[in-house]
Amino acid sequence: MTETIEAPAALRQINHWIGGRPVAGESGRKGRVFNPAAGRQTGEVDFATPEEVDRAVQAARAAFATWREVSLARRAEIFFRIRELVHERREEVARILTSEHGKVFSDALGEVTRGLEVIEFCCGLPTLLKSEYSEQASTGIDVYSIRQPLGVVAGITPFNFPAMVPMWMWAPAIACGNTFVLKPSEKDPSASNWTAELLKEAGLPDGVFNVVHGDKVAVDAVLEHPDVAAVSFVGSTPIARYVYEKATAAGKRCQALGGAKNHMIVLPDADIDMAADAAVSAAYGSAGERCMAVSMLVAVGSVADPLIEAIKDRIPRVKVGDGMDPSNEMGPLITREHRDKVASYLEDGDVVVDGRENCPDEGFFLAPSLIDNLEPGMRAYDDEIFGPVLGVTRVDTYDEAVRLVNESPWGNGTAIFTRDGGVARRFQFEAGAGMVGVNVPIPVPVAYYSFGGWKGSLFGDRHIYGPEGIDFYTRGKVVTSRWPDPATSKVDLGFPQTR
Ligand code: NAD
Repeated sequence: MTETIEAPAALRQINHWIGGRPVAGESGRKGRVFNPAAGRQTGEVDFATPEEVDRAVQAARAAFATWREVSLARRAEIFFRIRELVHERREEVARILTSEHGKVFSDALGEVTRGLEVIEFCCGLPTLLKSEYSEQASTGIDVYSIRQPLGVVAGITPFNFPAMVPMWMWAPAIACGNTFVLKPSEKDPSASNWTAELLKEAGLPDGVFNVVHGDKVAVDAVLEHPDVAAVSFVGSTPIARYVYEKATAAGKRCQALGGAKNHMIVLPDADIDMAADAAVSAAYGSAGERCMAVSMLVAVGSVADPLIEAIKDRIPRVKVGDGMDPSNEMGPLITREHRDKVASYLEDGDVVVDGRENCPDEGFFLAPSLIDNLEPGMRAYDDEIFGPVLGVTRVDTYDEAVRLVNESPWGNGTAIFTRDGGVARRFQFEAGAGMVGVNVPIPVPVAYYSFGGWKGSLFGDRHIYGPEGIDFYTRGKVVTSRWPDPATSKVDLGFPQTR
């Protein structure tokens, strides 16, 4: 397996987006952006200085003064327009995702569709921001609650969902009346600039949505900026912990979603074919670079041998290659370094299928791999591998299986495969994870619920998007009021309209 990393003559330049227009970086520092299927550099992205981050925050701050006054009716209108544009142009952004991330085009379209669900949820912002009212709480006195935006809020996002995870943040944040500064992954930054242009076309005022590209320097500048009121982060656990500690120490509200190692338990009464299809789809989809990927299969009792056979049968049929070829089902990993790191785990346990064989010649590919007999204490069991490597642990009982889930330092997603409703219900009660699937391997909640894990998979109190997202991006105020008799009124026979 070889790959070439040649810089073509003309690299695409990826700039910041501040105050409604592209702004070329001035730091002189840049990151390399690759087409991972070709193993070739295709672009370079500006890395922001603290001064450039400040410029974006100031643009957002200036825009906040007017954006928070825009009526709910007008905001909803803009969101409906955003929804239409993203839907119409989803193939355009999916192509960007495939070219920079590597995921196959159909999967990239799926990413956009799941993000679009969050935008659709936000179209209902007038309903979402409704509050409570108590008439005559005391004689002549009414009490009511309102929710107001926080101000300038920031999002820091990972490489694996370059369009959807930012949508989880900017859509509810902006719907609630905040203005936004996004620091996307430097590995696949172009979807963020595409989003910025689309939001402008949809009628979002300049400065409401800004993008600064970069690395730790930009992240630290966001975390230290006194005008940033809240930070949403999605990424690996060590960085999530760092961001949470630094942001909260600076007095900011923070939700920081971290990494994962998701266990899928298969009981002896499960439908073996259904479980094998689910395990292969959830372990190798997007080359395993999903925080909700199934990475550990926990086979209980007699199910282990037939289940592993069924998975082994399916693996050679997974077509690996360039994501723009519609016959391919799995693309490359994000970088050569990451591919090599993932491949280094094929040393623990008993390697049943070695993905280093049968890979395309170019690009950062590793084919689906399967390791049997992993246990806690082994590197391939303990680490989040974040690649197309499915590990299997064999246990004798349901109780041992649940203990593995609950002793994991992560608690993002977990799933159980069984025909026994009573056991499934017990699992839902006992499992130490934020998202549980019953015969569903990747239980990513629909947009009107919230997404988030437990333990090392989430630092902070509130999950992301859905009702908790609205809660995160607003703060409450309670008004107690008394009025003299109202004296203002006029005759107007027109049908009442929103303004
Ligand atoms: P990452 O933690 O390396 O990077 C995430 C963001 O943090 C990027 O914007 C990056 O520029 C920034 N960053 C990286 N190093 C930093 C540092 N030292 N200081 C400050 N900022 C830094 O994560 P990644 O590799 O881009 O994404 C993969 C990880 O994200 C996996 O661990 C995956 O499980 C996790 N993830 C979690 C969820 C979830 O919902 N829990 C969703 C998607 C991805």
